[in-house]
Amino acid sequence: MDHNQELFDRAQKVIPGGVNSPVRAFRSVGGAPRFIERAKGPYMWDAEGKSYIDYVCSWGPMILGHNNDDVVAAVKEAVERGISFGAATEAEIVIAEEIRKLVPAMEEVRLVSSGTEAGMSAIRLARGYTGRDKIVKFEGCYHGHSDSLLVKAGSGLLTFGNPSSSGVPASVTEHTLVLEYNNPQQLEEAFARYGDEIACVIVEAVAGNMNLVRATPEFIRTMRELCTKHGALLIVDEVMTGFRVALGGAQSLYGVTPDITMLGKVIGGGMPVAAFGARADIMQKVAPCGPVYQAGTLSGNPVAVACGMATLKQIQRPGFYDELSAQTSKLTAGLTEAAREAGVPFCADSVGGMFGIYFLDEKPRGFADVMKADQARFGRWFHEMLELGCYFAPSTFEAGFVSITHTDDVIAKTVEAAREAFAKVA
Ligand code: PMP
Repeated sequence: MDHNQELFDRAQKVIPGGVNSPVRAFRSVGGAPRFIERAKGPYMWDAEGKSYIDYVCSWGPMILGHNNDDVVAAVKEAVERGISFGAATEAEIVIAEEIRKLVPAMEEVRLVSSGTEAGMSAIRLARGYTGRDKIVKFEGCYHGHSDSLLVKAGSGLLTFGNPSSSGVPASVTEHTLVLEYNNPQQLEEAFARYGDEIACVIVEAVAGNMNLVRATPEFIRTMRELCTKHGALLIVDEVMTGFRVALGGAQSLYGVTPDITMLGKVIGGGMPVAAFGARADIMQKVAPCGPVYQAGTLSGNPVAVACGMATLKQIQRPGFYDELSAQTSKLTAGLTEAAREAGVPFCADSVGGMFGIYFLDEKPRGFADVMKADQARFGRWFHEMLELGCYFAPSTFEAGFVSITHTDDVIAKTVEAAREAFAKVA
């Protein structure tokens, strides 16, 4: 029997669904997930010893490719000095200074261990700072799995949301207003009605959790203006986009200054580091300076911080993002051409090192468009590609990622495989 299948059967007896995060279970595409044994550069090897070109990149963090030599050396060096102290270290100052230099809106930074924590803490801070309860989020955006953010839109938009997970009290999500992405008019209506009760608006400026959907500049401009006018805080969730779409994140591309920024993924280089940061007067509300409580046993862990810092050093090499963007564009152009040759309805988009592939005639503008993708055909294409040694995200709702080790020959091999796969699913 296939060793991946064997491990999957065994895993399901002790781990719900056999996985520690749901998308890994391949539920929407079927089949046994690949159990990964090791990875290097753009490649991963599974339990059968089969190699894959990896376009998931640990869902974003592995921007330098897997097991970058300098990052591994920095991690080893940190481990030798101690795995965790639960006390202040100089390395935490260094990474906070570096983050502030690259993302100036983050005048002060607090490190946490996951994007979920960053989102939960950012919301608490916005509520604590403004003294208001209501929050605005957008359909299709994901900000981690804390209770108040696990919300789906009510039957009519502009109604407060129902929990989208069991175990979340309706009394928690009743303060969360869910609006359509890329719909500035709806945002205006929401502020006209609830303006003095809204603590914050939280957004992914380039959404990556409903596949890739770019915000329009008008949408971002409108939310910045409305937040400023009504005294609400704008939280830009850059957990995925930070150091991924550009060195300064999506906020640098849109020219918007958030009140609070969330980071994750790339800042840890594959280890559990995330962060939230803001203007000093906002961050001074966080404990121990202010009344907004927030803490973590492993926050700022020295090994994780060393891994993140070694990653942040390398992405600042001149030309890094031009190169990364060029490789990502070559991939999406190659896939689009391969699909066209086979006559499969398909399009693609990318921003920096992040891409979206859509089994649709045109690029989606929001969640409703993404829902129209041909999921069955995607599932067949996904499995063909996997067989051919290319590992894409196992869902039409995820963005894809390219690393700096995805060189021309790696992309060419992928496009070659895609030609075969598209022909099979045409
Ligand atoms: N925000 C965004 C935009 C994300 O993409 C994610 C994770 N995919 C999160 C928050 C949550 O991060 P984590 O999985 O580290 O909790």
